[in-house]
Amino acid sequence: MRKTKFLKLKVREASFITRALMSSRHPVLAHLIPMRRCNLACGYCNEYDHTSKPVDLEIVKARLDKLADLGTSIVTISGGEPMMHPELDQIIHHIRTRGMIAGLISNGYYFTPERIKRLNKAGLEYLQISIDNVEPDEVSRKSLRVLDKKLRYLSEYADFHVNINSVIGGGIKNPDDALTVAKRATELGFSTTVGVIHDSDGTLKPLSVKEKDIFQQVKKLGNKDHARLNWFQDSIAEGKPYNWRCRAGARYLYICEEGLVHWCSQQRGYPGIPLDEYTMEDFDREYNTEKWCAPTCTLQCVHQVGILDNWRDPQKSPEQVAVEIAKKKEVAGMLQPD
Ligand code: SF4
Ligand code: SF4
Repeated sequence: MRKTKFLKLKVREASFITRALMSSRHPVLAHLIPMRRCNLACGYCNEYDHTSKPVDLEIVKARLDKLADLGTSIVTISGGEPMMHPELDQIIHHIRTRGMIAGLISNGYYFTPERIKRLNKAGLEYLQISIDNVEPDEVSRKSLRVLDKKLRYLSEYADFHVNINSVIGGGIKNPDDALTVAKRATELGFSTTVGVIHDSDGTLKPLSVKEKDIFQQVKKLGNKDHARLNWFQDSIAEGKPYNWRCRAGARYLYICEEGLVHWCSQQRGYPGIPLDEYTMEDFDREYNTEKWCAPTCTLQCVHQVGILDNWRDPQKSPEQVAVEIAKKKEVAGMLQPD
């Protein structure tokens, strides 16, 4: 990434963070799925199919417009494999046109010099690729050996920030691979992070002694800011619950291919309201609602968004929130002129 572009991005990020600290009434990050289909079938994944069609460009644009109208700061396109969407460049371009930061999560398989140059032109700002192992196995083919050539292309041509995420847990056979992946990412000039992954049923298993050791080594090698923001991972690695306030459904939104708002990829169905009908009343309800799944949650980006508001606005149980909303409606009804 060119230095001038990097500095501009940092300035934009700083202004978004300041805005997020000043006001808690807009989404900070949205993950948008324009394509559920994936070319791979990782053993731990519950977020793909092999049959669905890409969402029509005009529908995706309308969803992006709604996110911009809600005041969203960052939109990350995810999947499935979003690089399979034939109009991904226009989607990225539309995010930028609406003044939001444009990110992409991909498995890396489709990067060629020509494709990378098109993404530069579209205005992509962040790319994250997760690499699970060095050699492909029956759990994952997101492997360094397969993807190394793609990483070299990215190192040479990408004018956007590239982060390589390695993973530990969730049935990944060889924990040493995370260290090999992180070292290669650093060599190529990328930032690197490490995530503890959940099983395909969404449950968390504590890391083994060896996994914990590798986890700490990779963290030291990686992005220092990121490591500072991810202290929850130390509890999760020990198999201990972590106490925090998840603001999913408000400060973080997950928009599926059908255009419904969900808490996150692992809690689809809640609240399950169409984005075009999503109101600030929905936002406030979810912002204030305690999430039952928070103590063992491993979703790094939602944790990071949560830090912005952890110091304010304690959450309530869904029952307490429902009672308060009912009371507010009753009072509003009484105050309406006959
Ligand atoms: S590449 Fe990503 S979306 Fe596709 S199966 Fe693997 S983890 Fe799931
Ligand atoms: S706590 Fe984690 S799993 Fe639960 S809704 Fe929030 S992000 Fe999703």
